[in-house]
This record gives sequence, C-alpha cells and structure tokens, in this order.
Amino acid sequence: MLTLRNIKVWDTGEVIDLVVPDTDAGRFFHEDGAVSDGEFDATGLTLAPGFEDPHVHFRDPGQTYKESMVSGCRASASGGYTNVLVMPNTVPAMDGEPIVDGEPGADEVRAAGYDDVIDYLQHYEAAHDVQLPVRYDLCVCASKGRAGGEATDLDRWRRHLPTAPADGKDEYQLAHPVTAISDDGSAVTEPILDKVLENTRESGLYLIEHCEHHDVGAVNDGPVSRKLGVPGIPEDTELRIVARDIAKARETGTRVHFQHVSTAISFDAIRKAKAEGLPVTCETAPHYLALCDEALLEYGTLAKMNPPLRSEADRRATIAAIADGTVDLLATDHAPHTLDEKDLGFLEAPNGIIGLECAYGVCHKVLVDGGHISDRRLIELMSTAPSRLMGHTPTDVAALLNTSSKCAVKRTLDLSAVEHPENVDLVVLDTDAAWTVDPEAFHSKARNTPFGGWQVTGRPLATIIGSKLVFSRIK
Ligand SMILES: [Zn+2]
Ligand SMILES: [Zn+2]
Repeated sequence: MLTLRNIKVWDTGEVIDLVVPDTDAGRFFHEDGAVSDGEFDATGLTLAPGFEDPHVHFRDPGQTYKESMVSGCRASASGGYTNVLVMPNTVPAMDGEPIVDGEPGADEVRAAGYDDVIDYLQHYEAAHDVQLPVRYDLCVCASKGRAGGEATDLDRWRRHLPTAPADGKDEYQLAHPVTAISDDGSAVTEPILDKVLENTRESGLYLIEHCEHHDVGAVNDGPVSRKLGVPGIPEDTELRIVARDIAKARETGTRVHFQHVSTAISFDAIRKAKAEGLPVTCETAPHYLALCDEALLEYGTLAKMNPPLRSEADRRATIAAIADGTVDLLATDHAPHTLDEKDLGFLEAPNGIIGLECAYGVCHKVLVDGGHISDRRLIELMSTAPSRLMGHTPTDVAALLNTSSKCAVKRTLDLSAVEHPENVDLVVLDTDAAWTVDPEAFHSKARNTPFGGWQVTGRPLATIIGSKLVFSRIK
C-alpha cells in the first residue's frame, strides 16, 4: 500500500491523502531506488488524471529494433501516460488487410498466430505472454498499405470499432479498439480523400490528418537551410493540407483532427475554422513549441522531423495558439529511430524524435515557467483534452472524492473504496521538480531526442492505471 499524504488535487486545489492499495504486479516497474509502498509526505505534489497521447509510433511489428510494444508502453508509463493511440505506419501497415508473407514484419505477425496487424496488436499480450503497463487503442490506415493509392476497406476493420457488437469479441479486442483513421507519415492523398472521409463518417471515427505534404526539401526553407546547404521545405506545405481539409469539413461535416501543427498560417486557418463552428481540432508537439529550425545547427538530424521545425516566428505562434485555445491538446509524435539511422545526414536520416519521457518537463518549462499557461491548463492539454478526443472518460478526482470520501478536515481518496476502481487512471506530478533529461535513462529503446542534457521542470512521479500502481519514481 502506498499512501501519499497532503497531495493536491490538480483542478480544485484540495489537499487530500491518496491511498493506492496495490501495485499491478505483472505490469509494475520502477526506477532505481523508487518504492511502491510506504507512507510519504506528498506536500507540493499534484494528483491529476493520467496523461493520454493520441500520437505514438511503436514500430511493432516490423521495426522492433527501434521500439516494441513493450518498450513503447514502458516509455509511456514512465512519462505519466496511461493511454496512447498507436499510429498505423507499422510494417506491414495497420490497414485491416491480410498480411502478405515475405513482407518485413509478416513473420512476427504470423508467428503470433494472426494474419492481420490489427488482430496482432490487439492480442499482443496473449501472443507474447507479457503484460503491457499502459492502455492503448489502435488507429487504422486511411489507405491500403498506407500507400495513398486506395482507401482502406471499412468492411475489413468494421468489427474492430468501439461501436461494433461485443458478442464474440475477446477481452483483448474489447480493450484495444480501432478509434481513429490516419495515414500519418503522409497526408491523405487527393484522389482518395472523399472515400476516406466517407469511411470516417460511416465508422463514426475521426480522421487524424498528417497535415504536411512536400515533394522536395528536408528542413524548413530559410536562412538555416541555406546555411546548411540542404533543400528547404516551404512554409505553406502544411497550410495546403489544412485548408483543403477545412474545406472538406465545411462541405461534409466530417470530423478532422490535425496532427503536429507547426506554422502560424495553419494556426490562423484553424482558428478561423473553429470560430465558424467547423468540427476540427488540432494538436501540436513539444518540439514545435520548444525549438525552431535554428536547432538544426546545434542538434543536427536530431532536430529533423516532418513537418520540419519552422521559424522562430512560427514557434512563437505555436505558443500563442496554445495560450489562446486554438491548440486543443499536446501530443508527442513519439517516433523512435536508432542513432545510426539518425547519423545518415540531413537528406537521408529518417524524420522524427521520441517524446514520451520528457514531454511534460519540456512543455512545463516552456509553457508554464515561461508564463504562457497555468499548471492546470498544461495538465488539461495532456490529459483530459486528449482523453476526450479519443472517446475516453478522464478520471474525475473531485467526483471520486465526493462519492467515496466522508466529509472531514482533510479527505482521503482510498482507491480500494471507489466504485469502479478499474476505470481510475491517475498521474502523480511534481510540477516543480527540476531535472536534467538523460536519454540513457529512458525506458524507450530509442535515444533520438534533441532534449538530452536539457534542464527542465516538472516530472511525473507515479502512474496509476485501474487504481493500481504501474510505475514509480517515488523515493
Ligand atoms: Zn505525422
Ligand atoms: Zn506521427
């Protein structure tokens, strides 16, 4: 039993005692020297709904040398996340089609006894005899093979929808439904857009759009690209997709969520679309608010991503869009690659960086310490907002207290006494902790981050899923 005395509830400010009766034995892990039981004075710590991330790449199947479901889920728990949405650019892609033998990753799927990637990922725990520390949902490809040529066949994946009848589904299928559609890594291509939007409406899901398309360039076009001698990506490559999809949302009423928005002009377009009442939402990622393209000069390809880090003016516009509510939520776009791959130079190195294990600290330092938003708002952007986007119900700590704790000078939230303990997902945060990002200490397999050595503030100390402790760095 872990008892945290005098912990503050994130939104009401009430100071309570938290009792976590159990660790989840098969899922629990901890950092060196951390504990899972005992009584601690948690004065100054904050209790919040678990973080959720609708944008992670776990490279499983097909590229498990970069990351696996096990290492990705451990990285999530250690970053304070309780639920993540796994993007479909696996190998083979998560498109609902039967795998073709000989494709990379096909053997892993076949060896586990499945013939499509959605089934394989839903049954990952059973197939590998492991327990994954966090919850996850799946995102299906917009196009077959994520190749952009033909929309995926809804009849192939309809059975995985949260609204599909539960009859005949096993516990794993119920736990890991398909909740969104995306071709992340690429924007949905023009010829299939109408069909994808039709699938989106018919399935009741939402489209997660990688709103960036460029045929040339490797980094943001500007003084930095010229200094590096690397071909540039114009700033309007994002807006073109954003504007196209806003027009479609207006025309068809289809719900579109824009991933990793990075430019002032795109934020302006989204701001206007929202004012018009269109069903669009957007996220940005920690790197777009913390870094601009000048970071390429310092971090090299560790600052190469898609969309690229843009100008300092765009970075400031990103922060302004977070502050004024244009940005609905923060997502990491956790994108593991090996350092050897990242060493290939600006043209050849793959795009993307990992983010789950330092997202809160980086965002807290820039956004809260920078005076742009409050602690409470940052927690909303990383927990309740993404949770609702994904169709979940975030844990309401104040409501739990009202139903389970008697009136007293100081109330106790005893997780063994709540009505539906299986639904309670929480994170314990030290919003003031100053710490140095050390990629070597990450639970992810990957180390590709420009934030190594950064002094940041704010750290998750414990992650609780289904009322049980799954991760601790409490000492
Ligand atoms: Zn993307
Ligand atoms: Zn992505």
